[in-house]
Amino acid sequence: MKLLISNGHLIDPNENQNSGKNLLIEDGKVTAWLGQNESAPEDTEVFDASGMIVAPGFIDLHVHLREPGQEHKETIASGCAAAVAGGWTSVCPMPNTNPINDNAAITRYMIEQAEHAGLANVFPIGAITKSSDGKELAEMGEMKAAGAVAVSDDGRPVPNAGMMRRAMEYATDFGLPVIDHCEDKSLSSGGVMHEGRVSLLLGLKGMPALAEEVDAVRDILLAKETGAHIHIAHVSTKGAIEAVRRAKNEGINVTCEVTPHHFTLTDSAVEGYDTNTKMSPPLRSEKHLEAIIEGIKDGTIDAIATDHAPHHADEKSFEYDRAPFGITGLETAIGLAFKELIHKGIIDLPKLVELCSANPAKIFKLQNRGTLKVGSFADVTIIDPEMNWTYRNADSKSKSKNSPFDGWEFTGGVVATIVSGKIIFRR
Ligand SMILES: [Zn+2]
Repeated sequence: MKLLISNGHLIDPNENQNSGKNLLIEDGKVTAWLGQNESAPEDTEVFDASGMIVAPGFIDLHVHLREPGQEHKETIASGCAAAVAGGWTSVCPMPNTNPINDNAAITRYMIEQAEHAGLANVFPIGAITKSSDGKELAEMGEMKAAGAVAVSDDGRPVPNAGMMRRAMEYATDFGLPVIDHCEDKSLSSGGVMHEGRVSLLLGLKGMPALAEEVDAVRDILLAKETGAHIHIAHVSTKGAIEAVRRAKNEGINVTCEVTPHHFTLTDSAVEGYDTNTKMSPPLRSEKHLEAIIEGIKDGTIDAIATDHAPHHADEKSFEYDRAPFGITGLETAIGLAFKELIHKGIIDLPKLVELCSANPAKIFKLQNRGTLKVGSFADVTIIDPEMNWTYRNADSKSKSKNSPFDGWEFTGGVVATIVSGKIIFRR
């Protein structure tokens, strides 16, 4: 099984690589970087990547795959199909399945389902507390042994500082990062969108930026005290980004991710009451979006993660107040990154690869991923920066179609996704 990706422009930030190179893959691993006129060994399949960017496979640190328990919304197989169609070779599913992924048996089950599907790699995230109810720590060591790469009570953040401190100490013993959905529910509960001018106009109950910021500051202080690595999920407010920036300057072990919807849309998108603009954290106001862009530019924000959160159309068709939080995101992320970040001159292509691949691999300590150096896993994302395409919910590989980006047109997108040396997706 030999594959040569020829004539492409190879970007690998870890290796300071940003020029034309051919990539030779054998038995699922990268075996050589060749010059573009060097010939490949015999019986090598050739993928012509002329005019394309060849990048280490993208890694999504934050998805919801709904299996076990809510297979009407998504399965591990359908979620992985959406992942590879969006250029993601690896995805990290949150533990809010039913039952919650708070033990080794569920972690193992998720990995087995992913192997069975044979699409993207799946690195599960275990729960911090049993049933994510904030009361008793989950068996982190056993979940890690089964393949979990981090812990989180995403969506149901640990409410109590004492419990969070113990969780950080425990996770650190096992070398696991703690992923933090920052939301003080005593400030946000009952809210359905960002608290501000638009929520007042629409008469919808708001979730203040403060709810995210209070929790982010608390957990940064706890990380300083415990030495834990915390990774702040879907950072969305100016104050939270400033807190991360200060913490990094102080040498505290904190990283953070942003979602494409938070760098693309503001709360004014809620004006039509489209429930596909309802997610947690909510779309924020212009001031927060500007802070996100600044955080991407200056490196405060480490990664782009989708928070892909599929919901069935029947559930999303409730009125705004009652509809569930979350949107799908795997297939639109790279198009949105081109539209909002690359074409607006915020970042260049090597930086995009860093945000989607090199940095995520480092954050979750995924060895030999996030790079294409010789010996690494042959997970490759191939991008055509000139391709014009339109995203349509109807064509989505996800079982759910709850994206606000239906019909959006993009320039720049994923043309092929290679996992362990196999071309799994090709546009
Ligand atoms: Zn979350």
